[in-house]
Amino acid sequence: MPQDHSAPRLRVAILGCTGSIGAQALDVCRRHPDELEVVALSAHSRTAELVANAREFGIRRAVVTDPAHASDPVLNELPVICALSTGKEGVLDLVRHDDVDCVLNAIVGSAGLEASHAALCAGKRLALANKESLVVGGDLLMPLAAPGQLLPVDSEHNAIFQCLMGDNTRDVHCIWLTCSGGPFFGRTETDLASVTVHDALAHPTWNMGAKITIDSATLMNKGLERIEAMHLFGVPLDDIRVLIQRQSKIHSMVEFVDGSVIAHLGASDMRIPIQFALSYPERWSTPAPRVDFRQLGSLEFAAPDPDAFSCLALAERAGREGRTLPCVLNAANEVAVDAFLHERCSFVDIARVVEATMDAHRIEDVESIQQLRAIDIWARERARYALSSLGCA
Ligand code: NDP
Ligand code: MG
Repeated sequence: MPQDHSAPRLRVAILGCTGSIGAQALDVCRRHPDELEVVALSAHSRTAELVANAREFGIRRAVVTDPAHASDPVLNELPVICALSTGKEGVLDLVRHDDVDCVLNAIVGSAGLEASHAALCAGKRLALANKESLVVGGDLLMPLAAPGQLLPVDSEHNAIFQCLMGDNTRDVHCIWLTCSGGPFFGRTETDLASVTVHDALAHPTWNMGAKITIDSATLMNKGLERIEAMHLFGVPLDDIRVLIQRQSKIHSMVEFVDGSVIAHLGASDMRIPIQFALSYPERWSTPAPRVDFRQLGSLEFAAPDPDAFSCLALAERAGREGRTLPCVLNAANEVAVDAFLHERCSFVDIARVVEATMDAHRIEDVESIQQLRAIDIWARERARYALSSLGCA
């Protein structure tokens, strides 16, 4: 579709602008000044980067969510027109502001849940990278989303969204959710006991934040993404199948009842799905590299190994049971991944901590954001107890 130059610019707020997705979202905005206007930004701790971005884009509002960084001297260098606020409430006010059309939520972890909820309640377009919002609160968020209001940024879900354009999800036989396999593809459970943080951070195809990189190594990321897809597309968990695609060139596929399979292919560059979530229903050019399929040679597929990657089974259990169990899965995983990143537990302890925390939870129906926040806090405490029971400092 040709670009409509008479249309007003989409006014975008980027939450988590200092992270991997946030930086790439800013790059998309930088390249499309006629279509996109960055009006507001949030960061948690990296205030110098926030200030640099605020100055470059001349934004009107900035939020620092970590109270420990709310008075960093560098914040005095924010542009004069830029109002500064702090904490979670600051993000919610920013999201609801009249001059924001679209919220790109690139916060990491369940800390992003309230902002996604506020964006949908306020009728904003939600370009959602923060998959944890849907894993934890999909039951609350999906009924709030009008058609075309919630655009997934996660590359697989963005791909599935594109494969489904013009089709009815009633006609879906299954979704093939692709996965690179991560740095430990082909390793056994025994091999994984001794892998280091350095090994786990060496993802073969994507350069991402630390938490999602570890989730990609344990395959918890794929488990979370099955739950995310279940909510987004209303497809049963059993019909969302994980498929290893080593080259990360097929970003996912949808198989329809008539046997047709539609795949989304392209370069492994997150600016493509980020941009599509902002340009939809239009398509704009990107500087992302092109795939020359004549050079590519082959596309390899495999099934994941459920014995070596037990996080997949834990996420399946959480997705199947539903209700408040995915909230507990996610919170325990965040605590365990943080402990692994700080070398306080082993790689295989991550699944042990998540399982022990899930076992201790009495599942409830999801009723409110406040209830989910209380369960998230409980699960974090319980996961820390599980870590200490395993002898982790
Ligand atoms: P990063 O760790 O690179 O960035 C996280 C961002 O969130 C930073 O801006 C950080 O601020 C901010 N942040 C951290 N903690 C909090 C908090 N408690 N409250 C508010 N903001 C906080 O992560 P990624 O960019 O890799 O991932 C962001 C989200 O996107 C995740 O949900 C991830 O699963 C998803 N995603 C990422 C992909 C990728 O390629 N990276 C692909 C698909 C999905 P600061 O840095 O200032 O401390
Ligand atoms: Mg993904």
